[in-house]
Order: sequence, then C-alpha cells, then structure tokens
Amino acid sequence: MIPVTVFKDRTVALFGLGGSGIPTALALIAGGARVVAYDDAERSRLKAGEEGILVQDLRTIDWSAVDALVLSPGVPLTHPEPHWAVRLARNAGVEVIGDIELFCRERQVSARRSPFVAITGTNGKSTTTALIAHLLRTAGRDVQMGGNIGTAILSLAPPKPGRVHVIECSSYQIDLAPGLDPTVGVQLNLTPDHLDRHGTLENYAAVKEHLVTGVERGGTAVIGVDDDFSAAMADRAERAGTHVVRVSVRRPLADGIWREGETLVVSEGGAERFRLPLGGIGALRGAHNAQNAAAAFAAVRALGLAPEVIAVAMKRFPGLAHRMEEVGRKGDVLFVNDSKATNADAAERALLSFEDIFWILGGKPKAGGIDPLAPHFARVRKAYLIGEAAPDFAAALGGAVPHEIVGTLDNAVAAAARDAEASNLAHPVVLLSPACASFDQYPNFEVRGDAFRDLVTALPGVTANPKSTAPVAQTEPARGGPPHGMPPHGLGGNAGGHPGGKPPFAR
Ligand code: ADP
Repeated sequence: MIPVTVFKDRTVALFGLGGSGIPTALALIAGGARVVAYDDAERSRLKAGEEGILVQDLRTIDWSAVDALVLSPGVPLTHPEPHWAVRLARNAGVEVIGDIELFCRERQVSARRSPFVAITGTNGKSTTTALIAHLLRTAGRDVQMGGNIGTAILSLAPPKPGRVHVIECSSYQIDLAPGLDPTVGVQLNLTPDHLDRHGTLENYAAVKEHLVTGVERGGTAVIGVDDDFSAAMADRAERAGTHVVRVSVRRPLADGIWREGETLVVSEGGAERFRLPLGGIGALRGAHNAQNAAAAFAAVRALGLAPEVIAVAMKRFPGLAHRMEEVGRKGDVLFVNDSKATNADAAERALLSFEDIFWILGGKPKAGGIDPLAPHFARVRKAYLIGEAAPDFAAALGGAVPHEIVGTLDNAVAAAARDAEASNLAHPVVLLSPACASFDQYPNFEVRGDAFRDLVTALPGVTANPKSTAPVAQTEPARGGPPHGMPPHGLGGNAGGHPGGKPPFAR
C-alpha cells in the first residue's frame, strides 16, 4: 500500500467504494487523513464499514469542512451530467480528484526521482502496460504495475528511487488527475470511444493529451502519430519543449520508431539506428501490436534499457489473457482466445493476424454487427455462431462464408476443432474473437475466455501453451459499461455498475 500523507489531518470525502475505492480510502487513512466515504450500493457500504472506513451519506455532511472529494473513475464527472457528489463538491468549492492524482502528489513529496511511466490511448493500453513492465522486469528493474490494469495504484508498493511504477491510465482517471506528471507518458492512439462520458471527440482527446502535457521536465512523451489527434499532440508537446518520440505503424519516420513488415525500425536524425524483429512473437502479432511494441520500446529506452536487451526480452513476452492468447495446439491447429474482442473493430485485428480461420463468434451483439468485417471474410474457412447474435451474423455471412449456428461455446469448440483438424491446411487457427459482448451467456469476457481455454485444453491431444496466462484482474470496469440485467457492484445505478464483481472499466 502507498500511504497518502498529503492529506494528513485533513478531511477527504470519497465516493465510489467498488474496485479502487476501498484501497484508496485505506491509503488515505494510513497517511493520516480523515475519510468519510459513500456509495449508492449498500453492499459496498457494508464492505467499507467492515474495513473500518467511516461511511456516511455525503448529502448529509458539512462540505465546508471537506478538503477534497476523491471520486471513483466509474462515476460521471462531467457527462452525461455530473454525479450529485460532484455537484455538492463543486458548490462548496472542493476539488474533485482520483487515486492517480493522490499517487502523483505523494510521489512528489516522498520520492520525486522514482520513475513513473503512464500509459493511455483508446486501444492497446493494457498490452503496452504489461509489455513495458515485462521488459523492465526482464532487465532486472524493480517494477510496480497497476492502475487501470490489475492492482489499484494505491495498493502498489510505494515509490522509491530505483523503483519504476508502470501505470495504465483510462481517460476517466486522467480526468481526475490534474497533476499527472509521468517521467514517461505514452499516448498510443485515439479513436472515438466513451463519448457518452466525454461529450465530444475533441474533449476526449483533450483529456488524453493531459497525460502528454503533464510529462515532467526532462521526461519523454511517446506518441503514436497514426491518427490526426495524436499527431497534433506530438507537435504541440514538442513545441512546448517536451522530448517526444513518435511511433508509426503506417509510414517511415526520420525520427522515431516505425514498422517495416514484421520489423520495428528505430530512426534518429534520418539515420537508422536499430532494427527489432517482431516475427514469431505470438503475443505481438499484427500491426496494432507493432504499435504497442514500438511504444513500449521507446518507453523503456527512455528509462535507459539497451536496445539489445529490449529485443531479447520482447521475444519472451507472454501476452495478456484474452487478447489473441495462444491457448494450445493440436498438431498443426492453433487455438487462439481473443475473448476481449467485444466489437467488430477489435475482432478485425484478429482476423487480419491469421489466414485459414475457423472463427467462433457471437454473443450479445453491438451496433453495426459484423458488416464492417466483410472485406476479411475470405480468410475465414468456416464460422461457428453462438449466442443472441447468431441469426443476424448468419445473415451477414450469407453465402460468403460457410457457417453453422452452434449456440454455445462447447459446441463451437468441438465443431471448429474437428473441422480445422480435417482441413489439411498448413496453419489452421481456431479463433474465438466474438465481436460481441458476452453478457447473454457469461458474466464478462474474462469468464468467456476462461471457458474457451478450459474447453480447448480438455480436448484430447491438445498441448496447452505453458505461457497461456491467467486473467489479469482489472481494477476498472469493462469498456462499454454495465450489462443490462447484471447487478451493479460498488457504484450505484447512476454511477455505472460492472460485471463479475468489478467496477466499470474506465477507459
Ligand atoms: P485496452 O487496454 O486499451 O483496452 P488491450 O491491450 O486490452 O487494450 O487490447 C484490447 C484489444 O484492442 C485487443 O484485443 C486488440 O483487438 C485491440 N488493440 C490492442 N492494441 C491495439 C492498438 N495499438 N491499436 C488498435 N487496437 C488495438
């Protein structure tokens, strides 16, 4: 735990006791703050009470005595409208901040020189965060990883010289961290997302940019410049005097890291300095992962790792569960769990990463269905349709792709494994990349992916991949908000619930 001493002997109101809420309250109390906490959900209030946290309805407290409102990132700050706790704080002139802000302030007073890497972007945050942590650990560094991935930031070990904190930051968390000041700030990419919470794409971009503009003096901003918003951020940061490393998977860069086929090229001043092959690294397949790998390379270079050391460590990256995770093989057949692909956009990355696909898809459909994936249907040998989306997806596949409505994942795995084996193709891939939410059949995408892994490894003759990872527990809620019909946990109905006992992914 990181005791937060910057509010010692002061009063902090805290709203949102799911996920990171309780660890944050405990860290404040450990640092000497008076904390009064609340949540709309009774279950969360009871749990907090059992932890010794003072729980009181924040509508009944004296706000003139409060020094800060610490908000859970799942609670609306601005859109669609500020939560009532935010209104009360604002009316009383009380600042509204989150746990990452508390970390930053504590780092300033306790260990200013301890390196801090913050990672954001619309897609690839978790992969890049895990990769940066892996590269640093492999090089022998003392690493703490958390934030929007795994462990709540204030549950990590405290900053100290020589220890690196590698922190995934959602846009919601950045919105609550006005003092965010990483040593290395990584902004991967920006596409429309979470506009319900940020209002417009411009607002969403402005929030993400905060992580870049906050980079501390002498630090480095690593920015993927393949979208216009992020490219403009890089230009502005450079003009403001920040050291910027640009990353592209679409075009060569005179200065920066770019992709040429399956190789990353590191260029400086128009000259090529280093080439890093990514071919054969199963956990980093596809152009999107090249972007993540390039950003991770730049981040750890900025912390002093040698390119040769990075290249060796990169090869050993096990990847994250549920993101194109190789779960096993049977003969030539590879089984891949991409359960995290809950929409067509994410499933597209997986389809582009393989040829000869036996594709398991379906679940609770998202707007737009799979029509945007039609250009990639030629890679699919056969599709196995599960869940609510099956009839619509069957219509979308039409005569273009042989398909079967199999209903459930166990039927799908059995049928796809049988057909892939019988295909006599050189590299058949049984791919779970559902392009759908899981909530019609599973509590969340992790449980769906675990079920797939279990079904595959139970097939006779399958060799499980020893690197296949257990799911990463996330502190924040799954993208897209709570499933209908799933009980909210930790946060009240107007604060957003979350599946599987975790708060809504704030991304
Ligand atoms: P995040 O934490 O931002 O949600 P993840 O690393 O968990 O991202 O990856 C989730 C999914 O997003 C992956 O399965 C893949 O489909 C897609 N993805 C990963 N990295 C990128 C990227 N750099 N650009 C676009 N899509 C990506």
